[in-house]
Amino acid sequence: MVLHITTLLIVSVFVFCLMGLLTGHAWLRETRERSLAYLGAMMLLAALGVVLIGLRGKVYDVIPVVLANVVLLLSAAMNWTAMRVFVGRSPSVPGIFAGAGIWLVLCLIPAFHESTPARVSVYSVLALGYGLLTALEFWRSRNHLEVAYMPALILTLLHTGFYGARSISDQGFSMDEALQGSGPGVCFFSFMLFESMLYVIGIAYVTLAMVKERAELKFKAAAFCDPLTGIGNRRAFMFHGEQMLVDGKRRGEPVALLLCDLDHFKRLNDTFGHQMGDQALIAFSQVVVDSLRPQDLLGRIGGEEFACLLMNADEHTAVEVAERIRQAFAQLPLLEPGLLSVSIGVVTTHESGYELSHLLSQADEALYDAKDNGRNRVETLPRVSRFPGPAMGVSAG
Ligand code: GH3
Ligand code: MG
Ligand code: MG
Repeated sequence: MVLHITTLLIVSVFVFCLMGLLTGHAWLRETRERSLAYLGAMMLLAALGVVLIGLRGKVYDVIPVVLANVVLLLSAAMNWTAMRVFVGRSPSVPGIFAGAGIWLVLCLIPAFHESTPARVSVYSVLALGYGLLTALEFWRSRNHLEVAYMPALILTLLHTGFYGARSISDQGFSMDEALQGSGPGVCFFSFMLFESMLYVIGIAYVTLAMVKERAELKFKAAAFCDPLTGIGNRRAFMFHGEQMLVDGKRRGEPVALLLCDLDHFKRLNDTFGHQMGDQALIAFSQVVVDSLRPQDLLGRIGGEEFACLLMNADEHTAVEVAERIRQAFAQLPLLEPGLLSVSIGVVTTHESGYELSHLLSQADEALYDAKDNGRNRVETLPRVSRFPGPAMGVSAG
């Protein structure tokens, strides 16, 4: 079957324009994702480049030979820039214009301008270079890219591989002949146009998927984060806490829960202002972060209430950690000594089981005891409240 190159050129222009406009629209809807703007520009420039190539034989050669390839190289540069911006780097202006600049300078040399094989090889090498740069952006950012970037990387490598093969195999098929439907170029240019269309559709789809995935991750992180202290909120604590307890139970390890409530916090707010109260909350969360191990979990589960789950920690260890937190907070130089204090209730899975809601209510009991017994202290669960098991003593500050 012989394909009609002019028809394919027209179809590809429409496909590139449509994809470019849709990607531009997505960028306008999600304006912070500048990579979509560059990707849209890449597609619109590709459409323009193909239009200029299609003018072959109808206008001066300088337009389809020189200008069309300048536009197509800028399009390839925009593709690279889109992915560069997506992974968090800023666009490289010299890099964007380097390919088109090299092309323009070489076109000033008559021997180059008149040699189709030389032009094809140089163009393919420049396009290959932009493709490799695009793939490199993903590769160098692979450790901090939290989205599924593999489809985009594979698509880019396939597209780049095509230009690599072209730089070796295409010794200058005649576009003029192909436009008239004859010569070996028909098959080649048909394949090239199909490949470009599939690439443009594919890269638009996978980029939008990556942008969407990243936006969802950001929303999820925001929904799990306490904006004042930067630590996890109640939702995050319950979500990760349940999982930690399942893991602890499966491994047969004890898990301890520390429930911390800052003392007389309303009074502190009323005396020193809400801003100072906020500073105390931030300082407290920092004290706890410094006292926990990476595998432990901390969350701000209420206004001035914090909860910590300590992995593989028995009551003795948990009380030690709680004491360290209590003392470190009391010694903070934020306010006069004696004004900052915290009461902490400690329970462990050994006597309260592995259900988070039950652990929290048991820790609340211990916390009440700490408040009743004068605040600024650490209390474990009263003996009568424990599940059947060994009775433990009370540790006070
Ligand atoms: P107790 O020692 O019995 O725990 O007394 P308390 O004053 O700490 O407890 P109470 O529950 O009476 O008051 C808690 C206060 O915490 C009231 C509320 O205004 C304050 N608070 C809650 N969230 C925030 C916050 O984000 N920033 C500030 N500055 N204060 C907060
Ligand atoms: Mg409270
Ligand atoms: Mg309180």
